[in-house]
Amino acid sequence: RLHTDTDSLSRASADYGNLIRETPSAVLRPSSLDDILTLLEFSNNCSAPFHVSPRGRGHSVRGQAAAGGGAVVVDMASLGSPISVDASGGYVDVGGDRTWDEVLRAAVREGVAPGSWTDYLHLSVGGTLSNGGISGQSFRYGPQISNVLEMDVITGNGELVTCSPERNSDLFYAVLGGLGQFGIITRARIPVQPAPTRAKWVRLIYNDFRNFTKDQEHLISTTTNVPNYVEGSIITSHSPANNWRSSYYSPTQLSKIASLLRETPTGLLYSIEIVMYDGGDRDLESLLRNLDFVPGMAFVKDVGFVDFLSRVGNGAAEEEDVSHPWMNLFVPKSGLMEFYDGVFVDVIAAHRHATTTPFGPILFYPLRRNKWDDRMSAVTPPEEIFYALGLLHSSRGQREAAIFDRVNAKIMEFCNKRGIETKQYLPYYKSPANWAAHYGQKWEDFQRRKKTFDPNRILSPGHFIFNPRDEQEEGDVW
Ligand code: FAD
Repeated sequence: RLHTDTDSLSRASADYGNLIRETPSAVLRPSSLDDILTLLEFSNNCSAPFHVSPRGRGHSVRGQAAAGGGAVVVDMASLGSPISVDASGGYVDVGGDRTWDEVLRAAVREGVAPGSWTDYLHLSVGGTLSNGGISGQSFRYGPQISNVLEMDVITGNGELVTCSPERNSDLFYAVLGGLGQFGIITRARIPVQPAPTRAKWVRLIYNDFRNFTKDQEHLISTTTNVPNYVEGSIITSHSPANNWRSSYYSPTQLSKIASLLRETPTGLLYSIEIVMYDGGDRDLESLLRNLDFVPGMAFVKDVGFVDFLSRVGNGAAEEEDVSHPWMNLFVPKSGLMEFYDGVFVDVIAAHRHATTTPFGPILFYPLRRNKWDDRMSAVTPPEEIFYALGLLHSSRGQREAAIFDRVNAKIMEFCNKRGIETKQYLPYYKSPANWAAHYGQKWEDFQRRKKTFDPNRILSPGHFIFNPRDEQEEGDVW
């Protein structure tokens, strides 16, 4: 099942980001877990063990699922594991290779659904559980890594282990947000609840950053009429209201937004997106009454639950010369106004004068730390409320990609200089020192868990955490 043809190697060497290429020596297309166990046993028994990298759907942007220099990439999708829904038991058992879109469709057929999602659903269960899995539901239900009851994991030692909070708990928490460093997730048990059928989907426009964040924080803190979903985004002339992620607005609504944007001196507008599932109409009315959006700038749609969850496409991924120099950052609430001045005004709004390259969608929405279990490998800023910033750039050619990477670097430098304790989500670092700083107090545990579950440092080398790059660029994150 090892493939070494040019086409297989070339596909395994690229990802959605289209920025980094690492060519493995072979691609394993497993048809059973035994194939993966055999591969790991073989590597562990070599005098110089080779790297093994599970690849879900390759939606990383900086080579995190790739591996070069004698490595084998495991194309998880070829497993075709079962999805079994136990509606009365309240869970779905799903292979780590399957996508969230497949989970949704299988669960809804039985009248149930998980509570926590990603915006885009064609990502593998193993891929998002290795990171976090966040969306507008996360403030209420927690990220996807907080919504797992049990997993089967093939460790770097080549053992198939069932783990949960009660059983092999160190492995369970290591793997959640563990960037594929400790084991390959082959099954996850995800809790489900009765599936809603409809979604009231609202977008509100703001021209004041303080009101925008005050209202988002109110929405994630209220104890009555709690929304099922809250997300925020930034609108500029370089990051328009309709984009590849979403074509929510009608032409009339777009021209209203465009004229408000022209009147706004900063060149920045903000949008809060709220969803109430079934029967939330009256609740929604009273919820909106307490919010300070621009009068007349509330837009409402009524859509099916599955249509709402399936709303995000994957952009220009198929076009060969398009790359995605994305950056995702968690920003602590205490640094918010400084971040606004230094990043949104001085970097993002200023960008519209500096270059004609469009910025891509900009997401900015709050999360609650109490929904993240500190025993998991995932890291967040050390505050109860923090914001997820997503800079989802698309660029053509290396020159444009370099422009966005300079923007990303500028933002990181600004935060470091001002002591704003951001954490990268879907992290990308070039030096071990940066990884140690990223994990902070968790670094010691992270290293200990690597020694325990993958002592030969075989798994997921694309992050360059335990296998430093040949060329060190100390201190330089991009
Ligand atoms: P891959 O890119 O294939 O792998 C990612 C990492 O996980 C690698 O280190 C790999 O080795 C490891 N891995 C893969 N499978 C397994 C496994 N079974 N067991 C252990 N490790 C494994 N993220 C969000 O949180 N919310 C979003 O709304 C969101 N939207 C996105 C939209 C788009 C268009 C894109 C491109 C990405 C988005 N992401 C989002 C990011 C996404 O969650 C991560 O990039 C995720 O890793 C992608 O899953 P994948 O299956 O493609 O993983």
